[in-house]
Amino acid sequence: MTKFVFVTGGVVSSLGKGIASASLAALLESRGLTVTLIKLDPYINVDPGTMSPFQHGEVFVTDDGAETDLDLGHYERFITTRMRKSNNFTTGQIYKSVLEKERRGDYLGKTVQVIPHVTNEIQEYIKRGAGIGTPHEVQIAIVEIGGTVGDIESLPFLEAVRQMSLKAGPNNSAFVHLSYLPWIAAAGELKTKPTQHTAQKLREIGIQADALLCRADRPIPDEERAKISLFSNVPEWGVISMWDVDTIYKVPRMLHEQGLDGLICDKLRLNTPPAKLQRWDDLVYEVEHPQREVTIAMVGKYVDLSDSYKSLNEALRHAGMKNHARVKIEYLDSETIQPDNVSRLGKYDAILVPGGFGQRGVEGKICAARFARENKIPYLGICLGMQVATIEYARNVAGLKGANSTEFDPNASVPVIALITEWKDADGTIKTRTAKSDLGGTMRLGAQSSDVMPGTLAHSIYGDVVTERHRHRYEANVNYLDQLRQAGLVISALTQREQLTEIVELPQDVHPWYIGVQFHPEFKSTPWDGHPLFNAFVRAALSHQGSDKSALKVVA
Ligand code: GLN
Repeated sequence: MTKFVFVTGGVVSSLGKGIASASLAALLESRGLTVTLIKLDPYINVDPGTMSPFQHGEVFVTDDGAETDLDLGHYERFITTRMRKSNNFTTGQIYKSVLEKERRGDYLGKTVQVIPHVTNEIQEYIKRGAGIGTPHEVQIAIVEIGGTVGDIESLPFLEAVRQMSLKAGPNNSAFVHLSYLPWIAAAGELKTKPTQHTAQKLREIGIQADALLCRADRPIPDEERAKISLFSNVPEWGVISMWDVDTIYKVPRMLHEQGLDGLICDKLRLNTPPAKLQRWDDLVYEVEHPQREVTIAMVGKYVDLSDSYKSLNEALRHAGMKNHARVKIEYLDSETIQPDNVSRLGKYDAILVPGGFGQRGVEGKICAARFARENKIPYLGICLGMQVATIEYARNVAGLKGANSTEFDPNASVPVIALITEWKDADGTIKTRTAKSDLGGTMRLGAQSSDVMPGTLAHSIYGDVVTERHRHRYEANVNYLDQLRQAGLVISALTQREQLTEIVELPQDVHPWYIGVQFHPEFKSTPWDGHPLFNAFVRAALSHQGSDKSALKVVA
């Protein structure tokens, strides 16, 4: 039977509830339990797919093609269970489903209400996320509730999990609440009052926390922990200090040493072997003892918000660890890059153009791709980054002057990147789209496989087949591939089903490392193994580091 741990948050957002939940999951998994994580988001969007990265940070994509909260990325990086569509849902999805049932007449003439209809639906979705009754059923489901206790929006979720824990019984569910202690410099004190209040607020709605994770910029002295315990009705050993650390890989050990996983196992009456932390200690060692350093220029649009490229940043760091190197990422706003200043990219060890949407900043990215190509600087283009590399090659090498994507110029005379109108999705269903289709959920999404051409750079990285996740609407236009090939561009992987362009590269005798991929490899990188493409990219950056950069070429 699945047991549940519900994780709530108080006082303020952005405290690292996702990392705390993922760390607890990792500790329980290391005790030999099967674990999954489920994220509940209180907003009304059906999924974050239509939200701007400025609003919501990165949209994480699962193998089965769900566009989800970025916390699911942390989950996949911390535990071995793979996330699916059912591991993340929103208020919007719940209401959509309730309203569909209402229209079908499933409620048999009843008045449809938040309690019980919405709260029941939430419980059904949680059970589905835990895989109950399916081959995916886990022993422990950790359910992270987005938002902050006290928000109107998250109330139905809290009510639903309260009911769920009542039905499950005291030894089958536990509550962990994440709170915040501000350091007041003038008083020289960590203040416990907001934590007292948030624990009370939780009790008002019938939830008693079993553990309080107290975030602060420093460890919390025992005296303060005792005070919090008294006011929050959480035993002192359940008041756990979670201070700022320089790497997230320190969090599992921090929580373990204060007994969090032990406490949860006691509460849930689980008799397991002790947690194993060696692999986390090894990661921390790697992070703290790099032998070299590389600096990578990331030429993107959402450069002010590192959450927008969460998985990408992580993937680069993982690859650094694999190469015993620290990877420094410098974010450059592509809108500021032009032919007359692009040479400033010459000082970097490699250039990366990440995914993106919309026309703004695209010419700067094209300029960066050209600079990397002409100066033999290692280049990795991801999704949009592959598309701009293709446009650049078409314009400047293949002589197709009007080359563009129809995303940026619907009337482009040479649409080397264009909308495809029909394709088969990860689940085998035929999907169609036009320029007028809904924006939500109409992209090529999820994992798809491609055959890789022998003898290419891509083949040396991936072998015969590459299976990666997608999230895009436009594709390399098949009508121009021959001209691009004749001009020297290597199309090194095509999707197995539709023969869509998946990887483009330059021949290795022309450029040491230049590759563009239509998929998002960053979603599959883990701190344990890194990811073959990023590992190779960082290796290329390390070898470029030693090369002579004195004669950089810029063609306006
Ligand atoms: N905007 C491009 C498309 O929709 C690329 C998307 C991306 O980079 N994820 O095809």
